[in-house]
Amino acid sequence: SSWFSEVKMGPPDAILGVTEAFKRDQNPKKMNVGVGAYRDDNTKPFVLPSVREAEKRVLGRGLDKEYAPIIGFPEFYNKAIELALGKDSKRLQAKHNVTTQTISGTGALRVGAAFLSRFWTGCRDVYMPNPTWGNHVPIFEHSGLSVKRYRYYNPASCDLDFSGMIEDLKKAPEGAIVLLHACAHNPTGVDPTVEQWREISKVVKDRKLYPFIDFAYQGFASGDVDRDAQAVRIFEADGHDFCLAQSFAKNMGLYGERAGAFTVVCTDEEEAARVMSQVKIIIRGLYSSPPIHGARIAAEILNSDDLRKQWLVDVKQMADRIIDARCTLRENLKKLGSSRSWEHIVNQIGMFCFTGLKPEQVTKLAKEYSIYMTQDGRISMAGVSSKNVDYLAESIHKVTK
Ligand code: PMP
Repeated sequence: SSWFSEVKMGPPDAILGVTEAFKRDQNPKKMNVGVGAYRDDNTKPFVLPSVREAEKRVLGRGLDKEYAPIIGFPEFYNKAIELALGKDSKRLQAKHNVTTQTISGTGALRVGAAFLSRFWTGCRDVYMPNPTWGNHVPIFEHSGLSVKRYRYYNPASCDLDFSGMIEDLKKAPEGAIVLLHACAHNPTGVDPTVEQWREISKVVKDRKLYPFIDFAYQGFASGDVDRDAQAVRIFEADGHDFCLAQSFAKNMGLYGERAGAFTVVCTDEEEAARVMSQVKIIIRGLYSSPPIHGARIAAEILNSDDLRKQWLVDVKQMADRIIDARCTLRENLKKLGSSRSWEHIVNQIGMFCFTGLKPEQVTKLAKEYSIYMTQDGRISMAGVSSKNVDYLAESIHKVTK
């Protein structure tokens, strides 16, 4: 036998499998609403005008390709955390934050998980919403932490199970880690209201839980970067120490550039210095230093007044197109005489719509209508355009009659 004869075949990635099936399909009407990447109204990938211009300026400088520092470029990560917490953040002014550039949001989560795995002295369970982004589970498990769940989504109402969530958080052991989606929850599109966030923050504090906030969609939910930051800023204002993972994949459309940031908000500056030294050691051992190009583009945008203004317009344009697509889809289903309530399509926010379609309906949509989504009935609204929304509504109506 060989060295790896004991290695068993692993299951294929659920989301990439959807894309494979879509590619094989010959139907000209086929739709891919599986993958979570923004598309323009012609269902083509979209490079933001602000990003195009920033890239031009960066290239115009003729920079070299030397390694970035272990924690990346300060012009990038300092602006990134300022974008999340706001210019007036007390914790930033007091230098309580340890912030580093990371390999997009996934890298931020992974570095954070590795840091907690090594240094967290509380309970080693990470409480995640049920459901959550599929990758959250392996990211934390691969780091040696165990995953637990708190109730989040109520399938009957296609809405937040707020009382279930609060009940479960109150039952979590002291010192446990709680993973929270700051906005545009993936996969459900269901977010707590501001009042609900205040209560969540209070329970997390009272129960002495440790918040790890995943902020992958700032600006992408409402179109307004400050509005989408409300939850994070409530946690800051309530005096929590916490971890934060940021991604510029969605809000700048920098998917493959892998631009993100990881922050630990510490008790004081002295603790921050110690934590920073250890985060550096962890990153060094994982991948030495982050990629440079995407962070340069993001930094160019965040540091130039004109590009930043343009970017805020670009983000709003993406968010608005998605919100429009939600309204049209719901309207169409109504017009077709669907007896179901599809209000949740417009109440949910961000990239995804958790339709409530059953697995057999999802299968039927793929087999008979060439419409591909994940088995849980999640539609990426980014794949819905003015050209295919009619076909999508008709097909959904036919399988849910
Ligand atoms: N968190 C959530 C909830 C996400 O949906 C995603 C992207 N699908 C990420 C983090 C990280 O993505 P990336 O590594 O591309 O920044």
